[in-house]
Amino acid sequence: MAKVFIKSSSYEYDELRENVLSLLSDLEQWQGVSCIKPGKRVLVKPNLLMGVTPERAIVTHPMIIKIVCEYALSKGANVLVSDSPALGRFEKVVKQSGLLDALSGMGVTLKEFSSSRKVNNGTFTRLEIANDALDCDVIINIPKLKTHVQMGMTLAIKNLFGTVVGFQKSGWHFNIGENGDKFAELLVNIYTTLRPTINILDGVLALEGDGPGTSGKPRHIGVLMASADALSVDLAVCEMLAVNPFWLPTNRVGRNLGLIDDYSVEGQWPTVEGFVLPKNKNIVFGPNFAKNFVRKNFTSRPQNISLSCKLCNECVNICPAKAIDNLGNRLSFDYQKCIRCYCCLEVCPHQAIKIHEPLVGKIVQKLL
Ligand code: SF4
Ligand code: SF4
Repeated sequence: MAKVFIKSSSYEYDELRENVLSLLSDLEQWQGVSCIKPGKRVLVKPNLLMGVTPERAIVTHPMIIKIVCEYALSKGANVLVSDSPALGRFEKVVKQSGLLDALSGMGVTLKEFSSSRKVNNGTFTRLEIANDALDCDVIINIPKLKTHVQMGMTLAIKNLFGTVVGFQKSGWHFNIGENGDKFAELLVNIYTTLRPTINILDGVLALEGDGPGTSGKPRHIGVLMASADALSVDLAVCEMLAVNPFWLPTNRVGRNLGLIDDYSVEGQWPTVEGFVLPKNKNIVFGPNFAKNFVRKNFTSRPQNISLSCKLCNECVNICPAKAIDNLGNRLSFDYQKCIRCYCCLEVCPHQAIKIHEPLVGKIVQKLL
């Protein structure tokens, strides 16, 4: 049986330090052995989606990353902190998120995932994962508790998608992003390949609404969770938020693959009422020949808020389906091409993309 350790916490450094170290120590005692030994290569994998301050609740708080690094260094490990941001240069992301300052002078390596190789693990034969993630001895996964318009939430399992390097992520979105369960299968496949030894969720300041980017809204929850089992962390978050755990596609896939173990909780999570989930509820149904019609007329879709749009092209460049055109004075979306992956909404730095739900689709949702 897996175990999830819970602590209430703020980001006040002394309190945070005590709580994070206590969670790590609880986990170590539960595992019965310290998995971090002198000379071991430890990869710390936070969520560094884009260059924003921690108050936006989009990236893992830099102080949690710092404390985890201190812990690994105290065990004599060689520590690498790495991610592959969806938006912006890595150097800018770590500077704007405060991580560069937080880790300054600590003796850890902070660098972007760059090279990768195929893992040949069955279903996804073209899947490549960052060499740094494949070659380390221990992975400490530090996800942020955030909503995600395409996948419901981005928690411990989804955080590992950052080990797919650069634009390969867009390629996967394009090839299978339209099928939420298939995409979830890919995420779970990455998880079973990497199997992080430690997962610590930053749920102190979470993101609700249309996350995981600037369209989400920060929401104070004040919780940290730690477990050796990433799926159990994701299940525990759903339970805390009173969300059906199998609404989350990665949990469904985990269940179907027999990966879900019973888990027990040590500690108490706060009461969270009315946590706002993303609006996106895609319904593509009917025979194949009608699916394009259904998608066009019934499903939610990205829409540009032209008054906020700075025509910066971030969405144009990331769109895996090449469905967005910059016409010089406005954007144009091709909804026949659009696969509803919401990468555009995720990366827009100016909250200039929202989710539009067609009225007919809303009515059908209610009837269903
Ligand atoms: S919608 Fe956002 S990302 Fe796209 S061009 Fe406008 S401001 Fe840039
Ligand atoms: S327009 Fe947005 S939601 Fe549609 S495919 Fe492009 S990035 Fe994905």
